[in-house]
Amino acid sequence: MDRSRTLESLKHRLGAIVGAKGCLDQAGALLAYECDGLALLRQRPQLVLLPRDTNETVECMRLLHQAGLPVVARGAGTGLSGGATPVAGGVLIAMTRSSKILELDPIDRIARVQAGVINIDLSLAAARHGLYYAPDPSSQQACTLGGNVAENSGGPHCLMHGSTAQHVLGLTIVMHDGTLLDLSRPRLDPEQLDLVGCFVGSEGTFGLATELTLKLTRKPAAVCTILAIYRDLDGACDSVSDIIAARLEPAALEILDRLTIEAVEKSVFSAGYPKDAEAVLLVEVEGSAAEVASSVARIEPILRERGAFELRTAEDDSKRKQLWAGRKGAFGAMGRIAPDLYVADVVVPRTKLRDLVRRVTEIAREKRLKLANVFQKFSLPTVTMNALICLRGKTFNCFFFTLSVC
Ligand SMILES: Cc1cc2nc3c(=O)[nH]c(=O)nc-3n(C[C@H](O)[C@H](O)[C@H](O)COP(=O)(O)OP(=O)(O)OC[C@H]3O[C@@H](n4cnc5c(N)ncnc54)[C@H](O)[C@@H]3O)c2cc1C
Repeated sequence: MDRSRTLESLKHRLGAIVGAKGCLDQAGALLAYECDGLALLRQRPQLVLLPRDTNETVECMRLLHQAGLPVVARGAGTGLSGGATPVAGGVLIAMTRSSKILELDPIDRIARVQAGVINIDLSLAAARHGLYYAPDPSSQQACTLGGNVAENSGGPHCLMHGSTAQHVLGLTIVMHDGTLLDLSRPRLDPEQLDLVGCFVGSEGTFGLATELTLKLTRKPAAVCTILAIYRDLDGACDSVSDIIAARLEPAALEILDRLTIEAVEKSVFSAGYPKDAEAVLLVEVEGSAAEVASSVARIEPILRERGAFELRTAEDDSKRKQLWAGRKGAFGAMGRIAPDLYVADVVVPRTKLRDLVRRVTEIAREKRLKLANVFQKFSLPTVTMNALICLRGKTFNCFFFTLSVC
């Protein structure tokens, strides 16, 4: 049989497993899968498969392994590092049709989900039990929990609750040859290796996660979000350092600089941030009502001492959502400033934050680049700074690298 007939027969067999809607080979349909958030790299896959469960994934992987075709896993394709970019001549397996919440146990606070469940959907489903899923990447309205596991994603609230790795209790994995690895029960494997921990952050290179056992977190009794407004960025940076040095542990600490505020306020994510501010700092504290009151009483003087000239407080959900909308939409809002972005994700010790910001600002001025900064405090003792450098007229749309300086 010639090569094209072999391929047609393979497609036929794969189509029989995933159904006609789960097997895409038409140019128009494949176009949507050419790249992830790193749109600079594009490669059209030969075939896209959308399995509905673990069994279908196993069957597909077996056939593809026998045929010797390379496979790349994909969730929602929001990744910024090109992990879901297809390989030439290869197959993309996207988990978006595997999107069922299989079990939600409010007593043990555990959820079992398929990998294609959207991050926010789990929190929405758990809300009726007073629970939520804590890791909250800014893309949480679109990204899948499987993608979060593969990237060990973090978000604003990972400062207090830890990133995805701290919330994954078990996994069902389909290996490259279709072998099923059942690590679904929360336990160490017989060899005492933390295989689940090893898989989290492996970017799809160890296999496809099809089912995830995840930890749910109880919603705090009280939450208070403060928006501190500054006339200079240094004051906001120093506030972060002082809050951590005072051993106060907010649930989230995020700075947005002037250009970011400008972009957000011009966009649909407008959060009512003051346009004339040089920086805003979002501080969120949670716990019992007494804990929150005591933390707020200690944090507010620090913010004022470091130059915050206005503090806005949100104590109800809708006001809090509005304050966070700007931060969570900041990346999308950058399109208001320039069509092309060069995204740099760096990790710096908090004591060096102010120096780094000053130097990066100088470089941007020298090179006549627009520079927008969003900072998130991830875990002690480092701060993550996303520098979104807007380059008008360059050929790339988005680039992303991580530099760790500890
Ligand atoms: C606007 C915006 C904001 C963002 N904010 C954040 C943020 O705050 N924090 C953060 O950490 N990231 C953020 N990201 C990056 C991205 O959303 C996360 O990395 C997310 O976890 C990717 O999920 P996904 O479902 O889109 O995965 P994809 O992009 O489809 O895939 C990402 C990687 O995971 C692999 N993969 C996907 N599913 C599986 C699976 N089931 N099994 C094995 N491997 C798999 C893929 O092969 C690829 O290597 C942001 C992106 C955007 C566009």
